[in-house]
Amino acid sequence: MKKFLLLVAIVATSFHAYSQTIDQKVEALLAKMTLEEKAGQMTQISVEAFLKTTNGVLNEPHEFDMAKLELAIKKYKVGSILNVGGNAQTVEVWRKRIETIQQLALQERLKIPVLYGVDAIRGNNYTLNSVMFPQQIAQAASFNPAMAKKAAAVTAYETRASFIPWNFSPVLDLGRQPVWPRIWETYGEDPYLVAEMGKAVVQGYQGDDVVTDKYHVAACLKHYMGYSMPLSGHDRTPAWIPERELREYFLPQFAAAVKAGAKSVMVNSAEINGVPVHANKHILTDILKGELGFKGLVVSDWQDIQYLYQRHRVAKDNKEAVMIAINAGIDMSMVPTDFTFTEALIALAKEGKIPMTRIDDAVRRILRVKYETGLFENPVGAAKDYPLFNSAAHNQLNYDLTAECITLLKNTNNILPLAQGKKILVTGPSANSMRSLNGGWSRIWQGTTSDETEKEKNTILEAVQHVFGAGNVEYSAGADFDKVLDVRDAVAKAANVDVIVLCIGETSYTETPGNIGDLRISDAQIELAKALAGTGKPIVYVLTEGRPRIISAIEPLSAAVIHAYLAGNEGGNVIADVLAGKVNPSGKLPYTYPRSTNSLVNYYHKYTETLQFDETAGYNPQWEFGFGLSYTQFGYTNLKLSSATLKDGAPITVTVDVTNTGKVAGKETVLMYVSDEVASITPEVKRLRGFEKIELQPGQMKTVTFKIDKDRLSFINGQLQRVTEAGDFTMSVGGLKAGFKY
Ligand code: BGC
Repeated sequence: MKKFLLLVAIVATSFHAYSQTIDQKVEALLAKMTLEEKAGQMTQISVEAFLKTTNGVLNEPHEFDMAKLELAIKKYKVGSILNVGGNAQTVEVWRKRIETIQQLALQERLKIPVLYGVDAIRGNNYTLNSVMFPQQIAQAASFNPAMAKKAAAVTAYETRASFIPWNFSPVLDLGRQPVWPRIWETYGEDPYLVAEMGKAVVQGYQGDDVVTDKYHVAACLKHYMGYSMPLSGHDRTPAWIPERELREYFLPQFAAAVKAGAKSVMVNSAEINGVPVHANKHILTDILKGELGFKGLVVSDWQDIQYLYQRHRVAKDNKEAVMIAINAGIDMSMVPTDFTFTEALIALAKEGKIPMTRIDDAVRRILRVKYETGLFENPVGAAKDYPLFNSAAHNQLNYDLTAECITLLKNTNNILPLAQGKKILVTGPSANSMRSLNGGWSRIWQGTTSDETEKEKNTILEAVQHVFGAGNVEYSAGADFDKVLDVRDAVAKAANVDVIVLCIGETSYTETPGNIGDLRISDAQIELAKALAGTGKPIVYVLTEGRPRIISAIEPLSAAVIHAYLAGNEGGNVIADVLAGKVNPSGKLPYTYPRSTNSLVNYYHKYTETLQFDETAGYNPQWEFGFGLSYTQFGYTNLKLSSATLKDGAPITVTVDVTNTGKVAGKETVLMYVSDEVASITPEVKRLRGFEKIELQPGQMKTVTFKIDKDRLSFINGQLQRVTEAGDFTMSVGGLKAGFKY
């Protein structure tokens, strides 16, 4: 024991010494820097500004306009560059680009490497042939943070293989507004699930040590905070979120990921309660850097300091916008593509309108991330260190994770899985499209063209042909997302088959271009579904969509529904294997699937919302949060609580036996909810307070254990304090319930 303690002490001291060394290095460097060098560190420019073009067309993909790059690095001492838009490039092109940038930066007086950042949001999507995992919303459906962590580690590896050390991911926004075009970038509507996924993914990106090795990257939590609840549902439009609700629903996941060591945070582009978050000192400085003790770097979102005057109109010009944003607590400005930010910052510092202490604080944070990502030692990597880029192992992990995401929502008379030899019509706008499987940020910002990715992996149609035999599969597009095409052809072909697989949903989009006026699935797809239903053949819907498009008009016409979200590059293969029963689906909905546009009510609703008389109002979803079927059944028995009273410092242990009562092996996510019966703030009907995913062979039983402590029952009261109020609670798991007191 003593030896162990000694070891712990040595490790702790050396760890302390190491982190101290970084702080000391940061201070030593900071002391040498001029104001101009500091302002440069706080500037981030888009790589597109430097690429060499002729008549608007890229020359060689790695070729820079050196005069422009030199202006940025030599004159303005720019500390960071990012990638947006543009076509994905090979890993070799990325390496050349980063090498050129770093060579130039290292010729400067202080030899400070550039911090390059990229949106590698689920795989390093801007590097060709990198693994593209399911989008975040699909990963949330896996309820498997351990697996998401492994995928994040692969993303980090493949990003670092491109010599890029900083990833603008994960999104920790709460996905509660299903109209919002970025809901697929979230982990869904439950703050507990978002926090569990967020922590795991941060660890996957960054690794376990403060200083990342050459296989890990700095994570960036975004978009801090309250971005995801625009009242209109449209991107970057106003939200009204009182501070109590901010602290209850939007802050905890950021707090959890900050505690897990996240090195950077990106700011919400929109306004809350009339204040753009880029101008909100209370949220950025008091809460994030003060209360949460965040030591990392806060980067603005795209052009958002400029937008304080151009769009939000809380500043009269660029200079005032810079003053407000930097004084509010932003450390680095993402773009513009010129140097108006840098120049304004220098002028404001000279005029004393931004204190040097604020600038030093920002630069310290930026330098610390550069040291912690090992950039001073290894500003670029060595290609030979990354033999696993796009390896079989990485692709296998993608397949396995995708298999845990796909969610079976309906399976009348166990029509699925389909036996071999069945004749199948595959139809619908997403049947033969990689675009709608992958969604946005896929090789390009708005999502790749199908041609490009079809070469990489199978569409649903191709995979079904592969699994069931091309001779058994008919195909007709039937409709596009917005217009019917050859419905007659689809109906005619349906006559020859046993079952119809109808692939519907959305094409890919990113951010504002994904705004919609109506959450219902498009009329063209409804028309196609109705026409096919007229044939009397059973229809299996496959939904490929970034948000839950309302399908209540055609849901009754289906025999089965498979929800694929934006399943990524392996989506087609896994969907075909689900149809064939090679994969037993185990995903569960990470959000409430609404039935009606007039009732976008989350599962965390209040009791008043359960008491509505009109079926389109109140809480009456198409499918509930946490819903998902399997090809086997699970029985829940023997729910036990270690005590009927929870006391401070003595958590209640909950155990429940889960048995696979069906005929095939399967995975089940055990969800534990707690309800506070009476509270000073109207309690939610229930809140998820624990989950665990288990695998069971037919007939096998496992006992699952949860702990409930005081903190798990807490909420933010009217005085903005986190409290647990004494009283009665009910916990439920798998339909079983038990009461206890605190
Ligand atoms: C998005 C961010 C992204 C940034 C850089 C912005 O438009 O809101 O999520 O990280 O662009 O690409």
